[in-house]
Amino acid sequence: MSAGIIDGKEIAGELRNEIKERVRVLKEKNIIPGLSVILVGDDPASQVYVRNKEKACEELGIRSKTFRLPQETRQAEVIELIKKLNDDPEIHGILVQLPVPKQINPDAIIEAIYPAKDVDGLHPVNMGRLIRGQECLKPCTPHGCMVMIKRTGIDIKGKKAVVVGRSNIVGKPVSIMLLQENATVTVCHSKTVNLDKETREADILVVAVGRPEFIKGDMVKPGAVVIDVGINRLDNGKLVGDVDFESVSKIAGWITPVPGGVGPMTITMLMHNTVEAAERTC
Ligand code: NDP
Repeated sequence: MSAGIIDGKEIAGELRNEIKERVRVLKEKNIIPGLSVILVGDDPASQVYVRNKEKACEELGIRSKTFRLPQETRQAEVIELIKKLNDDPEIHGILVQLPVPKQINPDAIIEAIYPAKDVDGLHPVNMGRLIRGQECLKPCTPHGCMVMIKRTGIDIKGKKAVVVGRSNIVGKPVSIMLLQENATVTVCHSKTVNLDKETREADILVVAVGRPEFIKGDMVKPGAVVIDVGINRLDNGKLVGDVDFESVSKIAGWITPVPGGVGPMTITMLMHNTVEAAERTC
């Protein structure tokens, strides 16, 4: 038996239709949601991500304003720009594309953004509110993962969820979101002993490690929901996840593909947050 595919493109498409409608309602109130993206340097992957964000904005009727700054830009200059955008009423969301060059501290940048405009959901205020179960702008990738898990129809309550990876961007927030849905959550990382024993117990397995095809079929519980956050480019140019799709799809009940899984959901949740931030100004 092979796993059902959780189609990120399809789900993202449905969500985008809902977002378009919300943009239309805002426009009736003379509000055009606005997103500013700041890209420092010339990292090729970041350039692609930023272009995709601009395209998504265009498709949904969101105003987008991208700032492309040179590699050697100083932290103070980026913070100065963020302050201007914080005070710009036409901008509802601000995002600094990560990673940033070495001379810039990403935490200082994230903390300079007003929490109400932090559409990446990474500001300590939004993170703190997330942990406390309060309303907040949720980090995009974990939020997308949760939407995908729910689309399988599984009742998360009481399930054993295992998250592999504990980054601030993915692993930690997705584990909090699973906990809020009443899963029993285990978070694994590079120091975890007997990782495969942990992953084999997971009814829901979320993998955000950054290692190509790291999770194999014999590490997965039969019937599990497997969410593959990883995006890895192999030497031959092929894009693969952190999950070995070939072997895991024979064991899991549901699986997200790479590409076409979590990736399209991440950008869509960013659009969702931008519209939500604009709605809150009404
Ligand atoms: P990080 O490098 O920040 O974190 C990786 C995590 O994996 C760390 O917590 C690390 O543990 C853990 N880890 C590393 N090696 C092992 C191991 N052998 N066993 C168990 N755990 C291990 O990565 P990110 O969370 O930022 O990203 C993860 C992946 O997701 C990447 O491929 C990235 O490209 C992708 N990604 C995709 C997005 C999308 O939109 N689809 C968005 C964001 C990321 P420790 O903490 O101990 O070091």
